[in-house]
Amino acid sequence: MKILCVGRNYLEHARELKNDVPESPMLFLKPATALLNQGKPFYYPEFSSDIHYELEIVLRISGSGRHIEPEFAPRYYDSIALGIDFTARDLQSRLKAQGHPWEIAKAFDHSAAVSDFIPLPEDSSNGIHFELRKNGEVVQTGDSRDMIFSFNDLIVYSSRFFKLQTGDYFFTGTPAGVGPIRVGDVLEGYLNGEKSLHCEIK
Ligand code: ZN
Repeated sequence: MKILCVGRNYLEHARELKNDVPESPMLFLKPATALLNQGKPFYYPEFSSDIHYELEIVLRISGSGRHIEPEFAPRYYDSIALGIDFTARDLQSRLKAQGHPWEIAKAFDHSAAVSDFIPLPEDSSNGIHFELRKNGEVVQTGDSRDMIFSFNDLIVYSSRFFKLQTGDYFFTGTPAGVGPIRVGDVLEGYLNGEKSLHCEIK
């Protein structure tokens, strides 16, 4: 399986990192070895001194396809979870400045924490609300209605380049409020008011 991700999919977050608002989804991938399953601690890696959390809604891909047409996009995901896209911001900033790919800052081992999945809410027109608490304090809140590119947009665009396969995950972008973690922190994610993700930093 692979993990698809999109950067800068919430306006306020693009602005906080002083990035332009993209005209098409800015995609990147993480390998299966990036996965950190629910409840497992995250061990602070030695190659960075500025790891950031990014809380995101994660889709589970439920069908295989390429060049998916917009009207069929909803058939390709059936459940959602919360995920943390752990990012080595110091490495990423250095690589970006050099114009290099920033894989090592984003796709390293255990950089994709994912909670258990729940069925996609029947009616998501009211938005999917999500929230990250760090040591009990709310540090990020998001609403899926604020996404620049919708779930369907992401399915359509990404499948032009990458064949989607059942069991892939899709990290759909983080809202504003990203920030650093330290050893000893406890991260908790809430999805529509229910606690769904727990991750300790060791
Ligand atoms: Zn992200």
